Amino acid sequence: STGATAIADDRRRRRVLFFPLPYQGHINPMFQLAGVLHSRGFAITVFHTHFNAPDASFHPDYHFVLVSGDVMSPTPADSPDTVQATVEHILAVNRSCEAPFRHLLAVLLARRLWLPVPEQEEEEEDDVACLVADAHLLTLLDVARELGVPTMALRTGSAACFRFFTAFPLLCDKGYLPAHESSSELDAAVVELPPYRVGDLPSARSAAAHVQMGEVISRAVTAVATSTGLILNTFDALEASELASLRRDRDLAGVQVFDVGPLHKLSPATSSSLLHPDRSCLDWLDAQPQRSVLYVSFGSLASMSSSDVEETAWGIAGSSVRFLWVLRPGIVSGAGAPPPLPDVLDAAVAGGRGVVVRWAPQEEVLAHAAVGAFWTHCGWNSTVEAVCAGVPMLCTPCFGDQMGNARYVVDVWRNGLMLAGGEVERGKVADAIAAVMGEGGEEVRRRAMELKSSAAESIGEAGSSSIMVDKLVSHIQSL
Ligand code: UDP
Repeated sequence: STGATAIADDRRRRRVLFFPLPYQGHINPMFQLAGVLHSRGFAITVFHTHFNAPDASFHPDYHFVLVSGDVMSPTPADSPDTVQATVEHILAVNRSCEAPFRHLLAVLLARRLWLPVPEQEEEEEDDVACLVADAHLLTLLDVARELGVPTMALRTGSAACFRFFTAFPLLCDKGYLPAHESSSELDAAVVELPPYRVGDLPSARSAAAHVQMGEVISRAVTAVATSTGLILNTFDALEASELASLRRDRDLAGVQVFDVGPLHKLSPATSSSLLHPDRSCLDWLDAQPQRSVLYVSFGSLASMSSSDVEETAWGIAGSSVRFLWVLRPGIVSGAGAPPPLPDVLDAAVAGGRGVVVRWAPQEEVLAHAAVGAFWTHCGWNSTVEAVCAGVPMLCTPCFGDQMGNARYVVDVWRNGLMLAGGEVERGKVADAIAAVMGEGGEEVRRRAMELKSSAAESIGEAGSSSIMVDKLVSHIQSL
């Protein structure tokens, strides 16, 4: 009878397929999104490359599928141009995963082999609702659609950054890009895209790299435009006008925009960290006074010269504040390990004033009462995490979308100060730390707390992101 069918349909579990771009800053929000949908009853399959493979043991309920394309590690550390190395790698991931992904997806769809134990009758009831892939994986989104699987694209940057993607051809026509090195030009306003200035736009160092970057950007726009929805890790109170402008964009007509951030606050705290976080720093934080510690981390990709690392160390040492510094292996271009730290910093560590770790449990660190400010490269995840924790930022953006994110922090949200402009220099570092942590930093601290409450509101009952998550769930159910 129809009634019985309806009940059976209700019980049938829908499966969502995920394919993150294999970088830490892209894997984290994808797993957070998977966590949200899993808690709403969806079964989860995660496709991944061998390179930067997630640790399946953290997600016993998920089904993992290795797509064994020949994806090599990107080499930003060896390359003179991080942007070029990254765009080349993104294109390579697409190319090398295409054939194996097509094969695996076809086999899985035909046999419904979603779990290691396929004969379980209950599991055979699953059917695939859609693929959610990173917007940088256009080739794989195309493959899924060819095989009859509807798609959604996750963009792991800000709404403003994606707006920049859609405006890229126009900005090239207007002559903003490729940007020239002269500093007066870099300070000029991008009239079409406030509050950006020319120097905030991602730029490549050579004409060839500029063309490749344009290709990667236009592919991401196509990936979104050909999908049923765009999922963004942002929220209305943070980027209302940027989101409104994406919703008005004629090139994206028919694409529903779901601003469901801050995702890390919605998802159960399971780890998708590629490096092992050193949790001992949390014990150390427990013993520090409230808001006394500067947390320093430049994310998973940004690299520094050894002299930058040394100046950073001297600056931190000279600032006389307490500190927790993440010195990631590979932070120094071309070297495996970070350089030895100057004696003055070793002495500060030995004296208990600070801690240096290889990788930190960042969300927990930022939420810790002892942390007073975050010196960051302004990766989008780090920015959102700091906003949610109410921690003011000191911004040293390095490449890609980071300069644009820093512009919003400094000029729009006003929850942080800029520490950029060429080489890192110890005197400037110490002054900037004093500015954000000291008495003069009251205004940025106040703004940081305001943003923290609006982030909390957005995911509270009837908050904008809570409503969006419900809409996203119905959208996926309808596919
Ligand atoms: N992260 C971490 N421990 C660290 C440094 C970073 O867990 O010591 C996490 C951080 O919480 C964030 C991600 O790594 O979720 C970095 O992403 P982001 O977009 O900030 O920067 P990216 O690494 O992509 O440049």
